[in-house]
Amino acid sequence: MAATVTTSASHWKKLAAEVEIPTRAFIDGGLVEAQGGGTFDCVSPIDGRILAQVAACGAADVNRAVAGARAAFDSGIWSRRSPKQRKAVLLRLAALIDQHREELAILETLDMGKPITDSFTVDIPLASECIQYYGESIDKVYDEIAPTGPDAVSMIYREPLGVVAAVVPWNFPLMMAAWKAGPALATGNSVVLKPAEQSPLTAIRLGQLAVEAGLPEGVLQVLPGDGPGAGRPLGLHPDVAMVTFTGSTEVGKLFLRYAGESNMKRVALECGGKSPQVILPDCGDLEAAASAAAWGIFFNQGEVCNAGSRILVHHDVKEEFMERLLRTTAEIRPGDPLDPGTRFGAMVDKTQMDRVMSYIDSGRDEGAELRVGGAAAEVADGGFYIEPTIFDKVTNSMTIAREEIFGPVLATIDFSSEEDAVTVANDTIYGLTASVWTENIDRAHRMARAIRAGVVWVNTFDAGDIASPFGGFKESGFGRDKSLHALEKYTDLKAVWIGLRASAPGASA
Ligand code: NAD
Repeated sequence: MAATVTTSASHWKKLAAEVEIPTRAFIDGGLVEAQGGGTFDCVSPIDGRILAQVAACGAADVNRAVAGARAAFDSGIWSRRSPKQRKAVLLRLAALIDQHREELAILETLDMGKPITDSFTVDIPLASECIQYYGESIDKVYDEIAPTGPDAVSMIYREPLGVVAAVVPWNFPLMMAAWKAGPALATGNSVVLKPAEQSPLTAIRLGQLAVEAGLPEGVLQVLPGDGPGAGRPLGLHPDVAMVTFTGSTEVGKLFLRYAGESNMKRVALECGGKSPQVILPDCGDLEAAASAAAWGIFFNQGEVCNAGSRILVHHDVKEEFMERLLRTTAEIRPGDPLDPGTRFGAMVDKTQMDRVMSYIDSGRDEGAELRVGGAAAEVADGGFYIEPTIFDKVTNSMTIAREEIFGPVLATIDFSSEEDAVTVANDTIYGLTASVWTENIDRAHRMARAIRAGVVWVNTFDAGDIASPFGGFKESGFGRDKSLHALEKYTDLKAVWIGLRASAPGASA
């Protein structure tokens, strides 16, 4: 395995031409067509080329996959294995992901258009790290004994739920799958993974690699298909004990409804965001803040749930900050995702590109000032590219400040006091992440506590570690991915109460 990204575009283009595209669902240890034979076009946003026809799973496939996953769970072949044995399998899976790093990176980039450097150095290694982390963790977490009186022992166990449906989006396909499958499998559940229809490829390979690593057949099923066809029947299925979802707030709400209409399955939701980065007048490093502002929105073409899509900047430092922000942004150009020099790639598909362009129109129409970008970019015939775009003179009531664009569009908003900044930062339905740039430690603490978000960074943006939890407040969802806390949501607590017969004082056996 190469430790750093291969620098030649020709290497990746050759791999892109040669890589085998997985096209079928992965059920009970084997690749299978969708029942009824339906398929959908898997289109590469790099050039609009159809990569393959992929199985379009529907309700019949969901029934089959859930039945297999449930049978595997009930058999105990995984759910009752010792934590140490589960750990060994997950560590082998992490190692296999590392061994297949180039293949998985090229599939990810072909499928969703992100730069190959990001796929190779971010997505795939972090997916492997996540599986490794949960493998390593699971033989180190203890159950509890409650502090009852001497006439009883109450043992508190964490038990796996059963079949967990993991429904994930297209922006970090393998990484999101790993965030769900890692802790769900570590705790002994069976998992039915539904990747987004825009990016099914690495999920299918994950299923195959898991079996190669020793995961029993049926414990991880993978169903490519769209939301209404495959996601909905999973949400409504009476034998699915939990849905762990990452995606839009709109679809997150549907899963709550599906749960209410079916078996009251548990639901964990990682949804959208409209994250503010607040630049205070006592920011100690405006250059770092400007760089974080640019990359906070332009990394992954802005297709990031916690993208820093609102910059709140104090009047006193506004001019200097904007000058630095525009200078950094001028260096970020859309390019060929298969070229390792490219840092900004293609939008995932035509639909998403059109959606982002319509938000750019709304920014212009509602009176924001376009400072840079605002147009489609020409990179490759048939591909879907947009220029990094910055609007200034935005008010928080404009559509581009309120709705999640999920693209490379930054809204800059002025403020004049700390209180104003907190009010505007919190004036959103979302609460995923935020950042505060200040040298004043009192202010940093005060604002970090006042902003309603699941993660607040101080003097940095989008920093993280698998050991630190991630997830939102408000309509950004509930439940946490990453860290040991993620294990909690894939288990139920069981108390086993044992009454003890009091022995007579002085009696001995
Ligand atoms: P989406 O909500 O459209 O789709 C997410 C998943 O839900 C996909 O697998 C899709 O097929 C499925 N789905 C769609 N409609 C469905 C329906 N009617 N019933 C059941 N399932 C359905 O989101 P997307 O466009 O794939 O991804 C972008 C969204 O994901 C953004 O809103 C982004 O903020 C969010 N996201 C959140 C996080 C986080 O951790 N909070 C991380 C990444 C992405």
